[in-house]
Amino acid sequence: SWSQMLGVTSLTPFQPSPSHVIESWSSSCLSRTQQMNYRPASQSISNSASWEKAFRDYKKFHNQCSQGRNWTLQFLEDATESNHSRDSHHSASSCGVLVYVEGSAGMGNRLLSLVSAFLYSLLTNRVFLLDSRGHLPELLCEPFSDSSWLLSSNFPFKALDEATTLGEFDQAAALAGDFSAQVVKLQLDHDQTISDQRFFCAETRKALELVPWLVWTSNQYYGPRFFTFPELWEPLTALFPNVSLTFTHLSRSLLLPSNSVWDKVTRMYSSYLTHVDQLLGVQIRRHSVDDRGRYDEAAFHRILHCLTGRKFLPNVGLSNGSMRQESQTPGRYSPPRVNYAVLVTSLQIKFFEELRDLYTNVATVDRSLVRVHMVSHEGVEWHSFDQDQKAFIEMWLLSLSDRIVTSSMSTFGYIAQGLGALRPLVVDLRGEISEQTSASMESVCYFGQSIEPCNHHTFYPTGSNCAVNQTTLSDIHLAWIRSNLLPCQDAPAGLQLA
Ligand code: GDP
Repeated sequence: SWSQMLGVTSLTPFQPSPSHVIESWSSSCLSRTQQMNYRPASQSISNSASWEKAFRDYKKFHNQCSQGRNWTLQFLEDATESNHSRDSHHSASSCGVLVYVEGSAGMGNRLLSLVSAFLYSLLTNRVFLLDSRGHLPELLCEPFSDSSWLLSSNFPFKALDEATTLGEFDQAAALAGDFSAQVVKLQLDHDQTISDQRFFCAETRKALELVPWLVWTSNQYYGPRFFTFPELWEPLTALFPNVSLTFTHLSRSLLLPSNSVWDKVTRMYSSYLTHVDQLLGVQIRRHSVDDRGRYDEAAFHRILHCLTGRKFLPNVGLSNGSMRQESQTPGRYSPPRVNYAVLVTSLQIKFFEELRDLYTNVATVDRSLVRVHMVSHEGVEWHSFDQDQKAFIEMWLLSLSDRIVTSSMSTFGYIAQGLGALRPLVVDLRGEISEQTSASMESVCYFGQSIEPCNHHTFYPTGSNCAVNQTTLSDIHLAWIRSNLLPCQDAPAGLQLA
């Protein structure tokens, strides 16, 4: 079973029942069914019936293709076959595959690219399989009922790493039907080359339909970009009528913590973050070239100014005479209700300590109580399993908040806001921050225009490198793009669904 493969023990005893297959599937991944119990009512989003159906259909397809098939043997067989059937891979006997290779980026980047790769698989009828060398297989639940997404540890992964890249792939030959590539690697990282960018040409994607195995390596979110592909636009708008929930639907189906991770998420949540009027998530991420994640006072002041200026937290000010009235009736002290619990996530503990000390030492002007928490402070970023797990737990905890504050350009924050269907308040913490600069509140602390993550790197071929020029998009598609895809607020060269 998957749970054995993942080394996860089911926390719910198995109850045989007529629908035991479904039951064992849902109890094998507790976060799938329990996540809504932890989300505030404000986060409930209307289901997209078409997405639910497409995901169910995909699971059936995944099962059918996996039945009785050993992917390692299948790969060896396909890779040695010199002249693959000219029919597209969708014939009954063979199923096209897309393998997601995890790479070494941060958790946020990896999860965004995993979701993008899966969406592309689903839209192009490929079985989505996961490289088992990375950390994600242990951190995530198996998302598809009855058959695994994991390639086994004896899979020849090196062959995937060394596969033909788009630059070496002869798409003209493929389109002419004279074609032999069995495995093609799509390198879609931020530092992709001009030849990798041929993926953004419709004719390349057409030629790739004939390739039985695609390998996807990336650290980017491509949701918005897929909506610009002429062949995907209509299916996508049918799946996600409310485009600003695209990533929310995908992530709530796919980025589910495995039982052992979920156990930690729920324990931390129940120990620290419940029984409050409002739970506020504050994600503090500094991207500076020299010293990643550094604390400095100017950054702290900017965050505080933003939190109080935008009324996410009350101001402090009454240093005396502010005692709350206690009941005069003798008896055991009963603590007042906490008005705000704040979960601070950051590599640096000092951001948390400063905020906690402020709200402990000085009373708030409206006498409300603010309790501040942090669950980890790793100091530096180095992507060990343990650090990836902490990062994933914190993204999930942030996503359970009533309101969220994120740092600009951070994919860590994008995952939290997307899972939570939360429109963030964004603080710009990039580069040097000086106390002297009188940056306006609007420019350094603004409300997100959307729940969606930003596709940071959008400016790939706009036609010139493609045989079929992008300007051949239909007028109706172009009009749709103009009103639904916006430049990102934190990365104006990027694209965001809004
Ligand atoms: P981005 O660099 O902000 O886009 O976010 P990523 O998640 O891609 O990469 C940042 C990595 O740094 C994470 O994977 C973590 O390993 C680490 N990191 C950064 N901020 C935090 C934090 O607040 N909490 C934890 N636990 N790790 C963090």
